[in-house]
Amino acid sequence: MDPPGHRGTEMPKPSKPIDAHIAWTADYCKHCSTCITICPVKNLEFKDDEMTSLGKCTQCLLCMKYCPDFAIEVEAKKK
Ligand code: SF4
Ligand code: SF4
Repeated sequence: MDPPGHRGTEMPKPSKPIDAHIAWTADYCKHCSTCITICPVKNLEFKDDEMTSLGKCTQCLLCMKYCPDFAIEVEAKKK
């Protein structure tokens, strides 16, 4: 089964789950902190250069939409 948000075009990328609904790709991330700033519930944080989720994600998808490098993917909320 494909992981959530899988785009399925290029090489498999080493994204890793940082939460039940969030995957982050270190290789794509340029540490601009846009996602951290945009998150309305302050769920994202860097810990030693690693993106971490504080378990407060509401799956609003803003971080994914605003990340300039497609480094963070959030699974859409199920109805
Ligand atoms: S999906 Fe929304 S709530 Fe979840 S980490 Fe991203 S910006 Fe924050
Ligand atoms: S917005 Fe994207 S590139 Fe910027 S810190 Fe967040 S995950 Fe990394």
